[in-house]
Amino acid sequence: MEDIFRKTYPVLIRNVRIGKEPQEIFLDGTGRIGEIGPDLARDRAAETEFIIDGNGALVLPGCVNTHTHAAMTLLRGYADDMVLQDWLVNRIWPLEAHLTGEDVYWGTRLACLEMIRSGTTAFNDMYFFMEEAARAVDEAGIRAVLCHGFIDLGDAGKREAECRATEKLVAHIRSLNNPRIRAAVGPHAPYTVSDEGLRWCADVAREQGIGIHIHVCETEKEVTDSIAARGKRPVAILDACGILTSRTVAAHCCWLDAAECRLFAERGVHVSHNPVSNMKLATNRAMPYPDLRAAGVNVTLGTDGCSSNNNLDMLETAKTAALLQKFSWNDPTVLPAGEALAMATSAGARALGFGDGRLEAGSPADIILVDTKSACATPMHNPVSNMVYACNGSAVETVICNGTILMLERNVPGEQEILDGAARAAAALVARAGQT
Ligand SMILES: [Zn+2]
Repeated sequence: MEDIFRKTYPVLIRNVRIGKEPQEIFLDGTGRIGEIGPDLARDRAAETEFIIDGNGALVLPGCVNTHTHAAMTLLRGYADDMVLQDWLVNRIWPLEAHLTGEDVYWGTRLACLEMIRSGTTAFNDMYFFMEEAARAVDEAGIRAVLCHGFIDLGDAGKREAECRATEKLVAHIRSLNNPRIRAAVGPHAPYTVSDEGLRWCADVAREQGIGIHIHVCETEKEVTDSIAARGKRPVAILDACGILTSRTVAAHCCWLDAAECRLFAERGVHVSHNPVSNMKLATNRAMPYPDLRAAGVNVTLGTDGCSSNNNLDMLETAKTAALLQKFSWNDPTVLPAGEALAMATSAGARALGFGDGRLEAGSPADIILVDTKSACATPMHNPVSNMVYACNGSAVETVICNGTILMLERNVPGEQEILDGAARAAAALVARAGQT
């Protein structure tokens, strides 16, 4: 069984459907979809090394999580139901002060396992000890864009250290030469990074041709504080520092105004909507999806870290996004299921530069098979509706990334070792921090 995982070879996927159409999919052995059609077995039998019988499963592009802090899986359930600032300052930061590279490795392994089990094939990550996160992603077999969370708090010495840490990570990821793993720069937010730091990040991203990952306008306080201290809204500061580009993913964006939504469209900024985290931490306003959509912004979905979510399930996130948007704008026609599913898949792939999330010949073979024999998938009048509103990530049976099988019929190799390692790391971290 083990030898079907961890390598790429020609695979024929039979007995599946795309929408309501029965189809077969041939993966060409180079990490791409070779062909899709109703009957490929006769033509492709000689080349095929392994056949997956989908048993009527629905095929979707893999989900793409455009904002997370993967290793925060170790903090899952550690501090809930608190005010954001109290939660960060008194619970999360004191624990994070004791984090080691080994913790980040195990936390990211756990995150990747959870993502694979719920149908995610790529993610956009910001945290610390990211060389260790890269090692975990490499072993897990999924795709990721990784950045060091850059925080200088206006201190020149801190800034220098953050610049060096960012350069080191970018060089390390380049040296891995792994097409599944890319570097980005990660200025944490306009309220934690000085203008000099923001400009440095923008310059490095442009020179290296890599992405920018940043938190923008999560809370109203960020906006009012910025106006009080600087006379400018955060988005104006980011734009002046060159942060708003077509390689930028801006997380949260709850408090953008209509003009800022139009500016994001002009600059080609991708937005990551994090509905579960925003509701859990009570940001008091939903990301303005109707304005962003009208402006033509590419809106994607993220989970945020596992201490503010507390899972990495993108189908659950798609449902929550649709519900939050309808409820917030008092309009049930806002964010229909088809748009929510596209946000969770193809929009995210475009934002991270991992293809365009389409199921067609030549596209990256990042695909998931969803069980159609379960209660949540019965009846299936409209497959997209079942996926967004009825099922969640536990309906995903098989996951393929870059043409490699990562989960087959719910079986992920090495799962128990990952669960044990992550549980041990989490317990030791809490013990070291002297907290319970
Ligand atoms: Zn975040």
